[in-house]
Amino acid sequence: MAGAADPAGPAPYPPRVAVIGAGPAGLYTTAALLDGDPDVHVDVLDRLPAPYGLVRYGVAPDHLKMKSVIRALAGTFDHADRVRFLGNVPVGEHGVPAEVLRVHYHAVVHATGSAIDRDLGVPGEELTGSVGSGEFVSWYCGHPDAAGPGPALDHPGAVVVGAGNVALDVARILTRPADDLAATDAHDAVLEALRRSAITDVHVLVRRDPEHARFTPAELRALPGITGVEIDVDDDHALDEPVPPEDDRRTRQNLETLTDWRDHPPGAGGRRHLHLHFLRRPVRLLDDGTGRVGRVEIERTEMTPDGGVRGTGELSVLDAGLVVRAVGHVAEPVPGLPFDAATGTVPHVAGRVVLGGEPVRGSYVAGWLKRGPTGVIGTNKHDGTETAQSVLADLPGLAAPPRPGGDAVPERLRALGIEPVAWSDWLRLDDAERALGAARGGTERVKIAEWDAMLDAARGPRDRT
Ligand code: NAP
Repeated sequence: MAGAADPAGPAPYPPRVAVIGAGPAGLYTTAALLDGDPDVHVDVLDRLPAPYGLVRYGVAPDHLKMKSVIRALAGTFDHADRVRFLGNVPVGEHGVPAEVLRVHYHAVVHATGSAIDRDLGVPGEELTGSVGSGEFVSWYCGHPDAAGPGPALDHPGAVVVGAGNVALDVARILTRPADDLAATDAHDAVLEALRRSAITDVHVLVRRDPEHARFTPAELRALPGITGVEIDVDDDHALDEPVPPEDDRRTRQNLETLTDWRDHPPGAGGRRHLHLHFLRRPVRLLDDGTGRVGRVEIERTEMTPDGGVRGTGELSVLDAGLVVRAVGHVAEPVPGLPFDAATGTVPHVAGRVVLGGEPVRGSYVAGWLKRGPTGVIGTNKHDGTETAQSVLADLPGLAAPPRPGGDAVPERLRALGIEPVAWSDWLRLDDAERALGAARGGTERVKIAEWDAMLDAARGPRDRT
C-alpha cells in the first residue's frame, strides 16, 4: 500500500499501527503486518520491559525446545526501520489512555492475552496456599509481578485442579528435582524454593474421565521423564471401558498411555508421587486453623449421557498445603472495548472488534483476547495473520491520526511519566541474563525477575539516578 496521505497536510506519511502486547499473538500479527505492506510502520507496546509474553512467562522453564520459538519472534524486529519495541509501557486505566493511541496511530491491535485465573467457585478458595495457575506459573517463570519467595512448599501434599496442559506443567515443576531445572532459565530464588520443597505427593484432580481430559499426548508423555517420581493413575475403572471407535488420535494416545501407566506405574518406588485422579473434583478447601489450606475435600464425579459431569456425593479428603487451580483463564476487559464476560473475550469478526454488529473502526484483537485461552504457541501465527490481513485491508479507509510522527510517541510517553524500554535496551537486559546463565554454567540464561533489576539492566549504569 502506498503511504497514506494526510487530508490536512501535503506530506504523505506511512500508515502506523500500534500492537499492544509483545507476546506471540502480538509479534506474529506484527510480522504479518510488516510482510504484508512494505510501507506500514508498527510500534509494539508492552507493559513489561521484556518481549515474548507467554513464551517467556508461560512456557515452563524445562520446555527448552518450545522456547526456541523466541528466535523466530525476535526476527520481527529485524525490520528496524519500520518496527519499534516500546517496553515498560502500560496501556489502559493505569497507563497510556486509549485516546492517546488514537492521536498517533491509524489502527490499534490489542493482543494482551487472558491474564486472569478462573475461579473454582468452592468454599475456602480464598485461603492462603490456594493460588491460580497464572500466579504460580508467573512465579516459577520469573515474572516481575510474581517475584519473591512464591507460595509455601513446606507441606507434603499439593493439589492441582484441572486436566489441561497447564495442570501438567504445574505438576511437573512441583515434582521435578530442582537440580534438573538448574540447566534452564529459572531464577535462583525459584530454584532455591524448589530445592527446599517438602512436597512428596502431588494430586492432579480431573473432573472428567480419561477420555475427556484436555491435555495433549506429548505433555502427558513428558511426565515419566522426571527422575525419582512415581506416577499413579487412579482411573476409577474408567480405563476398562472399550475405547469408542469415534475417538480421535489424541484421545486414543492419551488412553493408551494412561492404561499402560495404570498397569505399570512409571518410576515405581520414586521419592515423590504424582497421582492422576480421574472423576474427582474439589468441593471445599479446609482451613488448617491458621487461615491456610491444610486439606481438600473432594467428591467422586461421573459423566452424564450428554457429556457433562455431576457429583455422586461420595466424599473423601486429601492433605494439601498448596492448591493450584489450573482451570483456565479469562481476559481482563480492555477499557473502551466491548467485552463478552461469558467467554472472557472481545467480540470480533476476523480480528475486527465488533460492537452491536458493527466494526469499531481502527480497533482489532489477536490471540487469547480474541479467541479465548486455547491452542499452542503456533496457533497464534494463523490467528495473527488473519488479524493483520483485516488491518491491511482497512488501512486505506481509516482516518488519519492527528499526530502520526515517529518521535511524537516517545515524547508523549515521557510527558505521561513513562520511560519506554527500546529494543536496544531489551538487548542489554538480554545480555545481562545471558551473563547470569554463563555464571551459573550449563544454561543459556538466567531470568532477572525483579522490576528494578530488569530496568537497571535494560538501561545500563548510565541511567541509574
Ligand atoms: P484448558 O486446556 O482449557 O484446561 C482447563 C481444565 O480445567 C479443563 O480440564 C477443565 O475441565 C478444567 N476445569 C475448568 N473448570 C473447572 C472446575 N470448576 N473444576 C474442575 N476442573 C475445571 O486450559 P489450560 O490448561 O489453562 O491451557 C490453556 C491453553 O494453553 C490450552 O490450549 C493448552 O493446550 C495451552 N498450553 C499448551 C502447552 C503446551 O503445548 N505445552 C502448555 C500449557 C498450555 P473440563 O474439560 O471438564 O471443562
